[in-house]
Amino acid sequence: MTTPQHDVIVVGAGISGLTTAWHLKQAGVDVKILEANAYAGGVMQTQHRDGFLLEKGPFNVLVRDESFEQLLLHFQDKLDPISASGSSGRSRFVLHRSRLCKLPSNPWQFITTPLLSPIGKLRLIRGLLLSRRGTSANRSIDEAAARRFGREVADRLVSALCVGIYAAESKTLSLAGCFHGIAEMDDRLRSPLISALTSAFKTRRPKRQGLVSFRNGLSALPKVIAEDLGDDLITNCDTKSIKQTQTGFEISYIINGGIDEIIRCRHLVLCVGKSAASTLLKSAAPTLASEISSIPTSPLTVLNLGFDRKHIGHPLDGFGFLVPSTEPDFPLLGVLWADSVFPHHAPKGSRLLRVFIRDSHTNEVDTKSDNELVDIAVTSLRNLLQLTGEPTLVDICHWPNAIPHYTLDHVNRVANIERQLQSHANLHLLGNYLHGMSINDCVKNAAQEASGIITKLSLQKDIKDDMSQQCRQLDHSAIEPKEPAILQSLENKGN
Ligand SMILES: Cc1cc2nc3c(=O)[nH]c(=O)nc-3n(C[C@H](O)[C@H](O)[C@H](O)COP(=O)(O)OP(=O)(O)OC[C@H]3O[C@@H](n4cnc5c(N)ncnc54)[C@H](O)[C@@H]3O)c2cc1C
Repeated sequence: MTTPQHDVIVVGAGISGLTTAWHLKQAGVDVKILEANAYAGGVMQTQHRDGFLLEKGPFNVLVRDESFEQLLLHFQDKLDPISASGSSGRSRFVLHRSRLCKLPSNPWQFITTPLLSPIGKLRLIRGLLLSRRGTSANRSIDEAAARRFGREVADRLVSALCVGIYAAESKTLSLAGCFHGIAEMDDRLRSPLISALTSAFKTRRPKRQGLVSFRNGLSALPKVIAEDLGDDLITNCDTKSIKQTQTGFEISYIINGGIDEIIRCRHLVLCVGKSAASTLLKSAAPTLASEISSIPTSPLTVLNLGFDRKHIGHPLDGFGFLVPSTEPDFPLLGVLWADSVFPHHAPKGSRLLRVFIRDSHTNEVDTKSDNELVDIAVTSLRNLLQLTGEPTLVDICHWPNAIPHYTLDHVNRVANIERQLQSHANLHLLGNYLHGMSINDCVKNAAQEASGIITKLSLQKDIKDDMSQQCRQLDHSAIEPKEPAILQSLENKGN
């Protein structure tokens, strides 16, 4: 039997892989997508239990880009998008001196907030009007925030934001890696206020903005994309190794735990997450593999805790709270008040808390039993949220390599990876360890990569057609382009 050959193989059917394969298929490209799990979606996993809607991985999408909007538009008949409730968005809290303080959202709240001292507030205003530009390429988010707005803002607000988005300390995160656009502004502008006002007028905003989920939870999105891909998505298909050949790639995989099979392709897109990517590339591209494996990640544990409404004294009137680095003894990273954001996440008479625990806070989250983790969460929240009862529902999800850290050398690392990729024609890498962690970023990057592949393939086809025509004209029809030598030269021209 001959080995099947496709234009493109995508490995990994998380949102990055699904979106890539979907765009390729839409353009008529011959594509297959291989997924190790029995289901598509990667970390986007929703479970319905006892009337609760539990997001085991991500909770919502912050729509910031047209690519995501287009996806929503395409699937509008099948998806039921839901925006976060307005009041939850307006009230976000930060733990400050063991109390929950609302982040100011208007000038009066800013004047009265206990989060910043009067000197801290004046320093912030001064920084907004005029502050020093950044100079170092490898500056941290903490350094930039403190230089621009003062130490208090860096410690009490920005560090909490970093915990919320990256589950990491702002001192260890690269400004350019995490917020490329802000780093560019930090290089150029002296007045953040004027630049914010200017860009507010200039930026074209997506129609559906803000935080979005779906009636059936976030996993509804990968599900509809997977349905559209049909037989081109192969689940229970564990990719074991990759070999680069003269004409592309040879991929060996095990399907349904059975025997090794092989599939060939011209373009290979790896969307498997950082650890799996470096393992798969170890023999085909060892330098690239070791560069990828040097990107650090940290584990994260998500606890969904359901409570009887009468057992929570706090009104939970907001999005939830984050814990800045100034509260090192508090063992949680933050808590989301899930049903305040999306009311359908908890049944009537119940509330749902989504609690994040990171191992550097407890030092040993991996070794703790689930009961101990619940105990840590409930004990920490007892006074803060006036808990008077135990959870009626507990769901715990451990994500061992969940969150890649865009550390201070991230931009250099990614540049090295991209340099290495140039010597592996038609190998493509996508995933949250490179150019953005959010679902919105993954969708945007996948759309861009797919469009690059489509261009390359059509270029290669044009060249191939051209050459065939020339061959015929020269009456050399016997030397029609044949693999591997001629196709290889086409691949090189297409690059
Ligand atoms: C706990 C948590 C909370 C988050 N919260 C949010 C949030 O609220 N909002 C937001 O925007 N982002 C959030 N994120 C980030 C975002 O969800 C992820 O960055 C994004 O979903 C990653 O998608 P991906 O397709 O790149 O990778 P993944 O979802 O990890 O998918 C990779 C896929 O590759 C498959 N695979 C791996 N190895 C192989 C192999 N050898 N063969 C075949 N298949 C393989 C895996 O089974 C998996 O399906 C969160 C992430 C986590 C973990």
